[in-house]
Amino acid sequence: MSSKAVTLLSGRCMPLLGLGTWQAPPGVVQEAAEVALDAGYRHFDCAYFYQNEAEIGAAFQKKLGEGRLARDELYVASKLWNSFHAPQDVKPAFLKSLMMLKLDYLDLYLMHSPMGFPNINGELMPQKDGLLLQSDVDYVNTWRAMEELVEEGLVKSVGVSNFNISQLERLLSACRIQPAVNQVELHPYLTQPRLVEYCKSKGIALTAYSPFGCPALPSPPGENRPEPLLENPTVNEIAQKHGKTSAQVLIRFHIQRGIATIPKSITPSRIVENAQVYDFHLTDKEIQTLEGLNCNARFIKWNLLGMETHKHFPFGDQ
Ligand code: NDP
Repeated sequence: MSSKAVTLLSGRCMPLLGLGTWQAPPGVVQEAAEVALDAGYRHFDCAYFYQNEAEIGAAFQKKLGEGRLARDELYVASKLWNSFHAPQDVKPAFLKSLMMLKLDYLDLYLMHSPMGFPNINGELMPQKDGLLLQSDVDYVNTWRAMEELVEEGLVKSVGVSNFNISQLERLLSACRIQPAVNQVELHPYLTQPRLVEYCKSKGIALTAYSPFGCPALPSPPGENRPEPLLENPTVNEIAQKHGKTSAQVLIRFHIQRGIATIPKSITPSRIVENAQVYDFHLTDKEIQTLEGLNCNARFIKWNLLGMETHKHFPFGDQ
């Protein structure tokens, strides 16, 4: 069976399976995190933007307090939101997440996207006339402030999210500490082979977000979407062959290739189901068949409210 963790450039290990926490409401996410800890999850993907870090932190505090779990067995990631890209805003934003998560260090801190917004009283989505306000802070300068967090011992590794190849190249040529991770949307409908190859060649680990294609998001009007990934007959057929669920196949698709993934669920039975992915093996042919479903379908829409005009918009295909 394949390895359960990937070794990052920083020398630290990141578990390949984590719990996603976006759209996990504050009222239920604490229980979801506790169920996940009991089911063996050790990697948690959090973000200031998700506005639920305090409740996830309560789950950590409770389980660590019971004494059966040690801090160094946990792998906690959070993300710097776009409104805090100005270098002087980076450490205060980090410290807020750290405090809410009730920890004294984080394992990974990611720049949520290369696109900055102006910091207007900490607003998450500062807008004018229905359009998001954009800042021209260079993500390289944001990165330098993130490197300082590592040097101060506040976080073990730093990385990025939603960066394209040219943005990674630019960052690599300017950084002191290389990004350990690039967290991007990846699933059989969006396999991004060039980006995956590029990251591998530079030793940047990948984390696949929205492994099920984020089925909770409504389809934008007029968009011709492929059928939901969890209902795709090819995925279903492979799942049946192995006596597993489609969700388990979609998770296994990544971890068997050394790509971390962070399926989100607040449903206890699904949280447990999504962790049962180490008792079967997809054949090379099955992996190729899943890769063959690629149709460049991106479900997470970063082109909202005029963002596609942002100087650092990373997705030329949106
Ligand atoms: P996913 O692709 O993980 O899908 C989550 C949805 O699938 C939820 O509606 C969940 O329902 C449902 N689900 C979970 N397990 C099963 C199952 N076994 N069978 C059927 N349905 C299931 O979507 P996300 O977009 O949330 O991506 C995962 C995580 O990635 C996020 O939560 C976040 O942590 C991260 N992310 C990062 C982004 C970035 O920009 N860096 C962008 C988007 C996501 P329910 O919860 O009701 O069980």
